[in-house]
Order: sequence, then C-alpha cells, then structure tokens
Amino acid sequence: MDLTLTPTETAFRDALRAWIAANAPRDWEAGQLRASMQEHFAFLRRWQKTVYEAGWAGVSWPKAYGGRGATLMEQAVWTEEMARAGAPPLANTLGLAIIGPTIIHFGTDAQKKRYLANILSGDEIWCQGFSEPNAGSDLAGLRTRSELRGDRYIVNGQKIWTSYGWVADWCALLTRSDARSQKHAGLTYILVDMKSPGIEVRPLRQMTGESEFTEVFFHDVEVPAANVLGPQGEGWKVALGTLAHERATLGVLFQVQTRRQLDRLIEIWKERGEPGADISRQKIAQAYVENEVLRLNHLRAISSIMRKGAPGPEGSILKIGWSEANQRFQALAQEILGDYGQLAAGSDLAFDNGAFAYSYLRSRGNTIEAGTSEIQRNIVGQHVLGLPKSY
Ligand SMILES: Cc1cc2nc3c(=O)[nH]c(=O)nc-3n(C[C@H](O)[C@H](O)[C@H](O)COP(=O)(O)OP(=O)(O)OC[C@H]3O[C@@H](n4cnc5c(N)ncnc54)[C@H](O)[C@@H]3O)c2cc1C
Repeated sequence: MDLTLTPTETAFRDALRAWIAANAPRDWEAGQLRASMQEHFAFLRRWQKTVYEAGWAGVSWPKAYGGRGATLMEQAVWTEEMARAGAPPLANTLGLAIIGPTIIHFGTDAQKKRYLANILSGDEIWCQGFSEPNAGSDLAGLRTRSELRGDRYIVNGQKIWTSYGWVADWCALLTRSDARSQKHAGLTYILVDMKSPGIEVRPLRQMTGESEFTEVFFHDVEVPAANVLGPQGEGWKVALGTLAHERATLGVLFQVQTRRQLDRLIEIWKERGEPGADISRQKIAQAYVENEVLRLNHLRAISSIMRKGAPGPEGSILKIGWSEANQRFQALAQEILGDYGQLAAGSDLAFDNGAFAYSYLRSRGNTIEAGTSEIQRNIVGQHVLGLPKSY
C-alpha cells in the first residue's frame, strides 16, 4: 500500500496548514488547564464555530449537510494537521466522531437536515447514552425502557458514564422498546432532546478532578416517534455502527496527541541532559516506534474503510493499540519527569502547567471507554480470528 499523499491530498493539507497558521489560537493550553470545565468548554465551542464558519469542520461529511465531501484520508490529514499545530480540539467530540457518522449512515433525509449542520457548528452538543449500571461490557443487557404510545415514546431508566451529559443538547439513546425482548433483540436507538421534561443529570467526579461524565435519569420522558434512528426494534445494528466508528476513528486523535507529548518529553529530556540516560533513550525510542506503528495502522484502517464503506471489527485492534500504547507512554513520561511530573495545574513547579499529570490520570480510562481491552480482545478472537465464543 502506498501511504504517500496524492497531489489532491497534498493541496488539501497545504491549504489547511495555511488556514491553521493564520487562525488557530497559540499558547492556549496553559491558560485552559487553569480554567473551569465550563469556561474551557465555552472556549472549545467558540473555536469549533470558527473552524465551521471557515468550512473546515467535518470535512468528510457530505457537502449538502455542511461538510466538504472530502475523503476519509483527508479527514485523517485534518486530524493530524490540527494536532501537529497544537490547535485546540473541537467541542462536539462525540457528535463529530461517532454520532454524526451514524446519522449519515442510518438517518432519514429529514433527520440529516435537522441534526448534521448543528453538530458541525457546535450549536448542538451530543452525548451517547449507552452504558447502564448493569449493562457496560454486556451492553445488550440494558433495561432503559422506551414504550410507544401513539406518536411518542415514553422513556424510563438510567444511563451512566455519559460523557458530556452535563453540557449536551441531545443524546443518542439506546433503549429497550420491546419489554419481552432479551439481549440484542427489541432495542431502539432514539435521539432525545436533553431539555425534555423528566431528564435529570448528575455529575460524577473523576480522579482528574473533573466531572466530565454523568449519570442521566429518565422519568416518563416523551420523545417524538420521528426521532427513532434506523428501524424500530433494530437499535443493536445502529449501535454497532456507532461503536465501530468510535473504535476506528477516535484513535487517530489519541495517536497524534501522544506524538505531540512525546516530542515535548524529548525536548524536556534533552534540556535536562539526565545521567542514566541510556535507559530513557531505549524507552523513548520504543515509544516512538509504537506511535509510528499506530499511525501507519490507522492509515491502513482508513484506506480499508474507504474500500469497504464502513469500519469493521478490525477497529478493535486499533482500540487496543492506542489505549494501551498511551498508558505505557504516560507511565514512561512520569518515570522520566520524576516527582514534578505528578504536580497538577496551579503549581509553579509543575511541568507544562500539569499537562502530564492530567494526561497520566486521564489515560487510565482509555482501556475502559469505548469498550474495555478484554472486550476488544474477545471481538478480535471471535470475529477476526474465528475463535470460539468465550462465554
Ligand atoms: C472515560 C470514560 C468515558 C465514557 N463515556 C461513555 C459515554 O459517553 N457513554 C456511554 O454510554 N458509556 C461511556 N463509558 C462507559 C464505558 O463504555 C463502560 O465503562 C465500559 O463499556 C465497561 O463497562 P462497565 O464499566 O460496566 O464494566 P463491566 O462491564 O462491569 O466490566 C468490569 C470488568 O470485567 C471485564 N469483563 C466484562 N465482561 C467480560 C467478558 N465477557 N470477558 C472478559 N472480561 C470481561 C471488563 O473488561 C472489566 O475489566 C465511558 C467510560 C469511561 C471510562
């Protein structure tokens, strides 16, 4: 496979590079690490609006819905260039990376028209309501009920670990619409307005100190039947589309972010000229090798999605790759930085205003979010290697 950019991709990259150089905020990270979660999110939302208005949001989405109709390879170039330049991420992470693509795939024309442009502009932020207290890895065991009465569904139940629940305008909600059904059957995927009466959001505090995710309770929440995404009762199929996008696409972002941090770590390490450097040298080189392997594997996966039209179970290989490589890298950064590496934002002695301490703590969730490593290995074993089911 030839992974060099085509002339069209190179022109795309150069135009984007020039736009980023002229428009992306500089030196924003230190200030943002001290900002409250709300202030930080408002900053990211403003940045997303700027990117959208210049026509650089959701570049691979259809032109009719506000995208550029670019290829997935150009979308990957976009992610790399933004991260390489140190531009802020866009606010609507889940809307852009997984829920928008699911609406593009399964939505009616009316749904695409209603939701997609607002996802791109960041005017409507999305969260993903899948996990429940007794249905995480075993997602098909979910019990949140949606009952069709006339032209609306009545929703009752509870979701947990809902990232962005505290700020979301809409929720992609997986529900059980057939009370007598079990497991994967009888599920329906609905799009729920988070301002609907009967929704209660409670923050969950994480070890980073943030409350990035939440519990969401639904008490007799009314949702128009027109908000079903895909066929009623076939929500599992739609959810698998969302999960495949999550596993296949989020990794590109993490890989490039880790690469930026690795470059910064090398800078610090060189400045300090540490004795005992040989061990660090070996480990830093190993981290670079892992990151480069991830980069090439992502490009390979993207070209496979471009050929097949949709991500497959191979996304689980990428998910295991980026999440575990990032945890190894964060541990290495702590080892090299020593005690100061653990200081959080606010301490004058912290490296990069606590960025390394934050990302070390945040990386623990990488092997859980979007499906745990054990579940990804089950998928690889069963669906890629054809091994028998484990349970
Ligand atoms: C940072 C973060 C953000 C998240 N954001 C969202 C979100 O926005 N929306 C959302 O819906 N969910 C979200 N989640 C939830 C996430 O999807 C679940 O935590 C995950 O699927 C695991 O489910 P669980 O926590 O119930 O663990 P459990 O399913 O209870 O698993 C517990 C342990 O048992 C292991 N295990 C379970 N079953 C098997 C098996 N069959 N074989 C081998 N081992 C097994 C697991 O690997 C794990 O180690 C988020 C999680 C994190 C950490």
